[in-house]
Amino acid sequence: MNTTPMIALVTGGNKGIGREIASQLADLGHTVIIGARGLERAEAAAAELRAAGGDVIGVALDVTDQASIDAAAETIRVRFGRLDSLINNAGISHQPGADFSGQLPASGDVDQVRFVFETNVFGVISVTGAFLPLLRLSAAPRIVNVSSSAGSLAAISDFANTDPIGLGYVPSKTALTAVTLMYARGLVGEGILVNAVCPGFVDTDLNNHRGVRTPAQGAASAVRMATIKKDGPTGTFTDDAGPVAW
Ligand code: NAP
Repeated sequence: MNTTPMIALVTGGNKGIGREIASQLADLGHTVIIGARGLERAEAAAAELRAAGGDVIGVALDVTDQASIDAAAETIRVRFGRLDSLINNAGISHQPGADFSGQLPASGDVDQVRFVFETNVFGVISVTGAFLPLLRLSAAPRIVNVSSSAGSLAAISDFANTDPIGLGYVPSKTALTAVTLMYARGLVGEGILVNAVCPGFVDTDLNNHRGVRTPAQGAASAVRMATIKKDGPTGTFTDDAGPVAW
């Protein structure tokens, strides 16, 4: 693990797994920027972590809004001059208010599927693109994408798999894992380490608290990859137990 204090940004860091990633990084002595939809949400979470002794600030960062992303990148450039670790954690399971039937193959609604991809895939690409210039100014730049074993092709090609079938969330995580590999291979020459992690099935709003792991347990794999050393791995997909099947 890299113990040199670093500057880390966690998208969707105001609650759930993201908030725990921010908390654990702050506990390790790193400076953490919590990105959230709206400054109020970001600042509220940051203030709690500051009260616990962390060096944490909040920025408004909606991963589906390019102006918001660019403004966050500018704020971080002015304040810190670089970014060492970008944790693309923000994600959604469905369009708010939408019925999950819109994700079923038999009744799929492309707008609902597109909505999920906008956050889980295109949002990651937009955020990563905007922060690459700041990551390039780091001595040890890393990107962590919070994906899911639910999107593993090995898992979804198994007809005995009883997990929910859907066109939105699960394929968005398959795509995110592939996008991770593209960045890993595309940026390897620049020394930027890019890895995907799976937090496991975690008790959060995303799954109406059906998850069995705590957010703290779910955050561990992202924290591990966010703090790897400069010569650490790239292009991996892991959870707490080790490699996850592609
Ligand atoms: P969560 O508690 O619902 O938190 C999701 C976070 O993403 C919230 O902070 C949310 O902000 C934020 N977010 C959503 N859309 C956003 C946008 N457009 N811009 C910025 N932030 C946005 O869910 P979670 O379980 O912690 O999920 C975190 C990540 O883990 C997701 O990528 C999820 O797919 C992944 N994951 C979770 C599980 C699990 O079992 N929970 C399993 C595998 C992978 P608001 O507060 O504004 O909604």
